[in-house]
Amino acid sequence: HEASPARGGYAFYTGGQEQECTRRLSLMADLRQAIEQNGLSLYCQPKVDIASRRVSGAEALVRWQHPVHGMLPTIEFIKLAEHAGLITPLTNWMLDAAFSQSYIWHEEGVERALSVNLSAHDLYHPLLIDRIQGLFSTWGIRPEMIQFELTESALMEDPAGALETLTKLKKFGTRLFIDDFGTGYSSLSYLQKLPVDSIKIDQSFVMPMVTNSDSAAIVHSTIELGHNLNLEVVAEGVDSQAVWDHLAELGCDIAQGYLVSRPMPVEQFSNWENEWARMPS
Ligand code: C2E
Ligand code: MG
Ligand code: MG
Ligand code: MG
Repeated sequence: HEASPARGGYAFYTGGQEQECTRRLSLMADLRQAIEQNGLSLYCQPKVDIASRRVSGAEALVRWQHPVHGMLPTIEFIKLAEHAGLITPLTNWMLDAAFSQSYIWHEEGVERALSVNLSAHDLYHPLLIDRIQGLFSTWGIRPEMIQFELTESALMEDPAGALETLTKLKKFGTRLFIDDFGTGYSSLSYLQKLPVDSIKIDQSFVMPMVTNSDSAAIVHSTIELGHNLNLEVVAEGVDSQAVWDHLAELGCDIAQGYLVSRPMPVEQFSNWENEWARMPS
């Protein structure tokens, strides 16, 4: 029997089920090796203030260039890492990369906040807080320079446990974002209790908002909700000028998306920012 060729556009998931299983196992081994041997890389994507066009920070995004299969879709190998018990070492790799990059920027005289994505497994891991505390003190990074993004659905796996971890993270003085907001069924009373600073409206609402009035209504009311709770509102997936303009009209604070820039290797960020600053609005 043939596996569905439609699976997430994975070029190498084309054999039968048994073959797919073998491939997943060998990918897991490859991923473990990539984490251990520095085979991952740190990309980042700018977040830009819509009213002033100032760069407000960058999101850290992991990339894996597989020696045979090439660049793999991040969301797929993140899921693989979660299934294979590799998310803790992957997150540790990202944290190390993010803190050392933040230190480099600081040495260059650049004050640029970098946000790191944490998965549900990280959120409930007993050693996460100690590890982050250790990194802050080892690198001497100001807490405002490292931020964290937690998806709404990860928070909802264990709302009480998540609240506890977020409260500890917040004590460092770091900024917290709820990622993929609108996809995770959190309640308003829970949201109001969370010590977060920003919500990131999921790109599935943002991308179609110019042509789909339901999406536009969701984006609009999410911006109002966020502002009423004194939260900064970020729109993800801003990939056209029309979307940017509509968000500006609605008073959205921050935009992130291909219109501004695709994610790039972290070393390119300063050059990109210089070009962005020279670009007429
Ligand atoms: P996310 O945190 O919501 O990150 C945004 C994703 O949307 C990124 O995909 C980014 O490249 C993509 N994106 C941004 N703007 C646009 C746009 O205008 N158009 C389109 N089509 N896409 C846009 P990426 O880098 O493939 O990451 C996918 C997801 O994988 C992330 O979603 C995040 O949940 C997860 N992820 C990435 N890096 C890490 C990591 O280091 N750790 C963990 N735990 N998860 C990560
Ligand atoms: Mg994110
Ligand atoms: Mg997101
Ligand atoms: Mg998303």
